[in-house]
Amino acid sequence: MRVDTDDFARPCSCGREHHIEVKEIIIEAGAVEKLEVMLDDGMLREYISPVIICDTNTFAATEEIMENIYDRCEVIILDAEGLQADQRAVEVAFQNMDDEMDLILAVGTGTIHDISRYIAHEYGIPFISVPTAASMDGFVSSVATMTWNGLKKTIPSVAPLCVIADTDIFSKAPKRLNASGAANILGKYISLADWRIANLVAGEYLCERAYEMEEQALRLVKSCIRGIPSEDEDDCENLMKALIISGLAMQIVGSSRPASGAEHHMSHLWKMEVINGHLDAYHGEKVGVGLLLCIDKYNQIARAIRRGACHIVKYEGIENVLLKRIFQESGKLEGILEENTPDPLIAVVPEHLEKMSPYDCVDYRGTAG
Ligand SMILES: [Zn+2]
Ligand SMILES: [Zn+2]
Repeated sequence: MRVDTDDFARPCSCGREHHIEVKEIIIEAGAVEKLEVMLDDGMLREYISPVIICDTNTFAATEEIMENIYDRCEVIILDAEGLQADQRAVEVAFQNMDDEMDLILAVGTGTIHDISRYIAHEYGIPFISVPTAASMDGFVSSVATMTWNGLKKTIPSVAPLCVIADTDIFSKAPKRLNASGAANILGKYISLADWRIANLVAGEYLCERAYEMEEQALRLVKSCIRGIPSEDEDDCENLMKALIISGLAMQIVGSSRPASGAEHHMSHLWKMEVINGHLDAYHGEKVGVGLLLCIDKYNQIARAIRRGACHIVKYEGIENVLLKRIFQESGKLEGILEENTPDPLIAVVPEHLEKMSPYDCVDYRGTAG
């Protein structure tokens, strides 16, 4: 399966010009053999000093199948135990880099990709994504989500030059990881609803093409979800394709807006561990729980709107007392306030809401077919 990135270059009705930085996306069994050919005398032949960044788990999972590639590269293996995309991991990787290195191969999932794209950006060199699980939709992202001084920060870095997703590798990933990737895509029921609502009530920019790409990702996951636990090759490839398409939708609009709404905010809040202790849950698993909580709430609100039981109240501004109570002790209050300045809710005009018909409100269970 090849995803043609030229497809996205045509003019768009949203009025913006969209760019895809990724040059090549291969999702198939035996993809790493193609990577070898690309390094030998294909589009990657100019890179003579590649380095692999992986962790102890992803190294063990790929050591055999990628033997020839490991042999020709420098290899940085980070300890998978408690590994996070933070200063410590970046420092360890930096210590093992040398100035000759001209290409990074990120062999792993989210954390390895975030570390790799950050380092690639710092060194001004490209990186290749080799996903070892269909666990998240950020493989083609151009921003790195890093934990800097305890706060999650989105740091501009680089998108991969190519994605080489070998079904023989990612279909055999731990089942919880691939399930978490599927849940991440199902979360789009909420993120797409949020985007549409923000467009309707606050006039926020919305690109119909990116929106449709996320709907396509949803349809793909709905069609393949049953075969993922049994490692069905086609179904796993469809899951990976859905994750890549979702990532490309973010890339064309230059933000995570198409793929991340209230369900992701919940996931990020739980990850900050200010209202809960440490959770042994993957990102997609938290998104899945956020999705269920949001669906309940949104349908409740939709029913109330249809009954005419919803009333518009005056917005009183950011809930400073609540925020102070929750975030001050952990020292995160300042960061939270900074992120919400200017107040995003200011853009919602009450008069505008009054004028809207209850029939603008859709049943979210019905989107994406
Ligand atoms: Zn996500
Ligand atoms: Zn557009």
